[in-house]
Amino acid sequence: MTRDGRFRPKAFVEVAGAPPRALPSAFHVMLKPRGAVCNLDCRYCFYLPKEDLYDEGATFFMPDGVLEAFTRQYIEAQRAPQVTFAWQGGEPTLMGLPFFQKAVGFQRRYRQPGVRVENTLQTNGLLLDDEWCRFLRE
Ligand code: SF4
Repeated sequence: MTRDGRFRPKAFVEVAGAPPRALPSAFHVMLKPRGAVCNLDCRYCFYLPKEDLYDEGATFFMPDGVLEAFTRQYIEAQRAPQVTFAWQGGEPTLMGLPFFQKAVGFQRRYRQPGVRVENTLQTNGLLLDDEWCRFLRE
């Protein structure tokens, strides 16, 4: 996320600009709603330095409007019986549980009939408490 609040997922923009026939029937995009921000600092982490790719003043916090727009466009762009949202980081749980509750709400709103929506979450687990576990089980 840049200081002006705009989100520029380069690869997705390039796919969205392609002629419709060039689009695959299904594709996969990883979501990194806090970018490379993490609450651990593993020596071997290849991803933490990616923070340096962003403009100074970047917030590394996906706003609700971007979350909703991405969810709608990601679901609409796929012609497959299953759509997978893959959450990664950095540490995605630093967005807080309400963010993910909103994400699931948007998925329910935009899900096409007959399409199964899945979520995967790669996390270091530090923030997972009982409330998180109830949410994940649900
Ligand atoms: S927990 Fe993962 S993202 Fe965080 S510093 Fe370690 S390897 Fe990197």
